Amino acid sequence: MFDAALKAVEDWHAALPKARSFCPWPTDLCWQPRRAHQVPCINQMRNDPGKPSARSKPALHALQAVAPHLEWRFTYTPEEVGQHFLDHYGWVELAGPTGHFLSYQTRITIGYWGRNLWYDWHNHRAEELYTIVSGEANFHAEGATDRVLRAGATRYHASDQPHAMTTQNHPVLALVFWRGEGLSDSPRLSA
Ligand code: ZN
Repeated sequence: MFDAALKAVEDWHAALPKARSFCPWPTDLCWQPRRAHQVPCINQMRNDPGKPSARSKPALHALQAVAPHLEWRFTYTPEEVGQHFLDHYGWVELAGPTGHFLSYQTRITIGYWGRNLWYDWHNHRAEELYTIVSGEANFHAEGATDRVLRAGATRYHASDQPHAMTTQNHPVLALVFWRGEGLSDSPRLSA
């Protein structure tokens, strides 16, 4: 199931020119056992992922299948973002320095946000490319125009560029690629 998910994500990466040019597919991937950590949003991303595109469907279905076996994380505390946010959000490091597949070349995370959420301004050293698998969200970034993104769209964030996100009547599921310095860092809420 992990291999099927990884293959579907590799195909998704290969199908998106912006993802391909952002980072090559890692060549050092090595599966390592990690204990599953379940969070409330697993059921939401399985039952209410938002609309995929024809091309993103295989990745969506593979991620939904493996979701209960993944080590879901929050990064943020209830004090920082509120319990409601944590009940409708979660992310997984599929590949990376502490991922299900070890890699020191890139970090690939899966993120899910339910409807009507405000993901506050945050930043991190690594450069980032969001790719939308299903649903839609409004992306905000300092120095950039707000953009509503749907399945197949991408959004680049430069190193330490503050960014934020809003979902309204749709949830959003994204595969997020990191490159450069700070692959092991956690995002931090901007001051
Ligand atoms: Zn980010």
